[in-house]
Amino acid sequence: MPAPMEKTYEPRPVEQRWYDVWEAGGYFIADNKSTRPRFSIVIPPPNVTGSLHMGHALQHTLHDILVRWKRMSGYNTLWLPGMDHASIAVHYVLDRQLEARNLTRFALGRERFLDLAWKWKEESGGIILKQMRRLGVSCDWSRQRFTMDEGLSRAVTEVFVQLYEEGLIYRGEYIVNWCPRCKTAISDLEVIYEPRRGKLWYLKYPLANGGGFLSLATTRPETMLGDTAVAVHPEDERYRHLVGKSVVLPVLHRELPVIADPFVDRTFGTGVVKVTPAHDPHDYQAGLRHALPRIRVIDDDGKMTAEAGPYAGMDRFACREKLLEQLQADGYLAKVEEYEHSVGQCDRCSTVVEPKISIQWFLNVAPLAKPAIEAVESGRIQFVPDSFKKRYFEWMYNIHDWCISRQLWWGHRIPAWFCDGCGEIVVSRETPPACGKCGGPLRQETDILDTWFSSALWPFSTLGWPDDTEDLRAFYPTAVLITGPDIIFFWVARMIMMGLKFTGEVPFRQVHINGIVRDAGRKKMSKTRGNVIDPLELLDEYGADAVRFTLSSMAVPGTDIPFSSDRMKGYRAFANKVWNAARFVLGNLREGDGPAKPEAVDRLLAEGRSRLPLEDRWILHRLNQVSAELSQALDKFRFHDGSSQVYHFFWHELCDWYIELVKPSLGSDSDAERGSRVLVLIHVLDHALRMLHPFMPFITEEIWQRLPHEGESLTIAEFPKPRPVREDPAAAEEMQVLMDLVASIRSARAEMNIEQRKQLDACLVISNTRTQDLVLRNIAKVRNLAGLRNVELVSKISSDQGLLRGVTKAGEFGLDLKDAIDVRAERERLQKELARTRSEIEKISKKIADQEFLARAPEEVVLENRARHAELLERFQKLESTLGSLASQ
Ligand SMILES: [Zn+2]
Ligand SMILES: [Zn+2]
Repeated sequence: MPAPMEKTYEPRPVEQRWYDVWEAGGYFIADNKSTRPRFSIVIPPPNVTGSLHMGHALQHTLHDILVRWKRMSGYNTLWLPGMDHASIAVHYVLDRQLEARNLTRFALGRERFLDLAWKWKEESGGIILKQMRRLGVSCDWSRQRFTMDEGLSRAVTEVFVQLYEEGLIYRGEYIVNWCPRCKTAISDLEVIYEPRRGKLWYLKYPLANGGGFLSLATTRPETMLGDTAVAVHPEDERYRHLVGKSVVLPVLHRELPVIADPFVDRTFGTGVVKVTPAHDPHDYQAGLRHALPRIRVIDDDGKMTAEAGPYAGMDRFACREKLLEQLQADGYLAKVEEYEHSVGQCDRCSTVVEPKISIQWFLNVAPLAKPAIEAVESGRIQFVPDSFKKRYFEWMYNIHDWCISRQLWWGHRIPAWFCDGCGEIVVSRETPPACGKCGGPLRQETDILDTWFSSALWPFSTLGWPDDTEDLRAFYPTAVLITGPDIIFFWVARMIMMGLKFTGEVPFRQVHINGIVRDAGRKKMSKTRGNVIDPLELLDEYGADAVRFTLSSMAVPGTDIPFSSDRMKGYRAFANKVWNAARFVLGNLREGDGPAKPEAVDRLLAEGRSRLPLEDRWILHRLNQVSAELSQALDKFRFHDGSSQVYHFFWHELCDWYIELVKPSLGSDSDAERGSRVLVLIHVLDHALRMLHPFMPFITEEIWQRLPHEGESLTIAEFPKPRPVREDPAAAEEMQVLMDLVASIRSARAEMNIEQRKQLDACLVISNTRTQDLVLRNIAKVRNLAGLRNVELVSKISSDQGLLRGVTKAGEFGLDLKDAIDVRAERERLQKELARTRSEIEKISKKIADQEFLARAPEEVVLENRARHAELLERFQKLESTLGSLASQ
């Protein structure tokens, strides 16, 4: 026997207990031999250094809702979890540890550094996997993968070698983003561009043949030491006569040609630009067009090279200061302007990125892009929302070769070997013993692959590729990928290209792009703003179910999520509502009340629908409808619709009406009657829990286990299927009439501040005989729910009867207030409020008619005023009519 239910729901102990049971029960483990339809999904692997943030919380919640729903709907379901080795992030963590010990990775050496990295991974990596469990994710942990696992590494090597053998991977010189602190080339995604208040320095370069200067502007004066030309636009009349002449580089006194090239922006600065092919990507391209030399003046550490003459060995920024002093002293500094421009910084360490020419490995992506474009164009892969397709195409049609090498150690070392004797390069699946050409010794490439390279193989490498495994056959292609909008290019597109290339199949059939979680004011969460919400704190305070429900209720496809703790409080209250409804039901069960099979309930309907109480027929009809609507919503990734349907059903139909209607009859009915009532009640609660389970797995499992039930766990119980016998539009319509009548009477009472406990006498005018019959049949329920004593059906409510009157779908009603309130005092109160409302309406009417106000006020203020105006008018009419019905007393 489980312990009795507490008055309020305490999430923490319940969550811990059930997660352990689920995991131990093996309910999340997929079966690769099953013949059931399959639903597979791979997790966007979090970084091994990662800790759960709101973005993960959202994504994992959405994944889990789908996976749980599919699992309960009879699918053989796989949610494959794992982690990414995250080269740069791990290097950053370890570099800081080494720094604290006055060490660098270079002092440590590659092998010892990698030992340290693996040790760190075993001891401190993957915290996030534990944190994910707290959220309730139903991952198949028996299939957990890591991008540097043996199998996944083999897949990386295989792909690299094949692409190299096909000539798609090559080595070349390239200008890359270089972080002088992390000492590696970094991808465009890892460069953060932030606007900075900087300066624009105007320098004067003397013309070589004497007689004047060319003035030009730069934001990075220290790079001038590497200038090999100055450039003007070919159609710029101001400088046409100088093209082909030379200028002299100040300080170093090198002669530079004046070239004409359309890449020059005539409106920037003076229209003359310095050209530094070794330190700027645009200049690099210009340098290639004009065969300019490339002089490297900044080294890998961000220090000036020997080419920088007197500044050799200085830090790049110290050099800038000294050089500017010199230029000023020599009269080469024309002027300085304040200038705001964006500066690229390393995502990891915020060091200003330096463009650098180096030899890198590249993947020629264009041939892979073609089929990947076709797969989306033809609809074999769908984007949800569809609009993200456009972004995908934009990138794919303008695709550049991908620089795949990184000068780091933690990651997949490139399987290439160099022979210094004859210059041969060997790319191989196995370590080659010696140079095949000259027999000389080989040394392996020290570079590793970009982390995204292994991520691109994730959907099939995790299932065992390159081997032909049972898992690969059973679960590939996966059904859907859920990910954020920021990595469509870096990850989604690359998975599509690699998947098609190496398996001949798309890696997934749908890509659902989720929104970004922002703060309540719709601002992006950031450490510097101090508005970061920690999901772990939310889990502690509100419980996993409330966190999940909040996130899913706000997950409108294609929009960002302004996260509000008010909603979270609301959904914690919802969890309590569910809890209390269950407490009530369980408290009214007796020994021998068995599990409620859906077939048994269907039989009741088939044997004699009319013998069942109206509310039973109605709730079964609604349960059936809502379960179908919920499945439709989830099928289209409309998580917010799904959660609002199940919320509305549970709270506003099941709790507010059904349970209230059933309450009085549970104790007193005859055994036979009670039997069918309890059967329906248990069934409805059981199936409502099933519908809620994907959103709120913990509380639903806890309650379901306490209900009479069959089966081990709600996790693997069947999701409600459509049952045509449940359809009962007539019952729905009739219930609507009764609910409307009760709700109108309740709101009339509330208007007069009459407590629900205070019983009133009422009269009803119902002209339609069928409605009359309906109300009479259910009069006890109406009386009970509306707080009425005597109810009389009359043909007309005469004005002198002195009743509070109201109109509903069923007809008219009159409530006798004589015993309930001091009618005179109430009338005075209403009159005062009426006067107050009138004057407020006048004020606001003037305002929204005022042209000047309309022109000046922000749009939302105008809208707010209009809405308030409409609201007041409605209030005024209501007060007037209430007063009218009291006036006759
Ligand atoms: Zn860095
Ligand atoms: Zn050789």
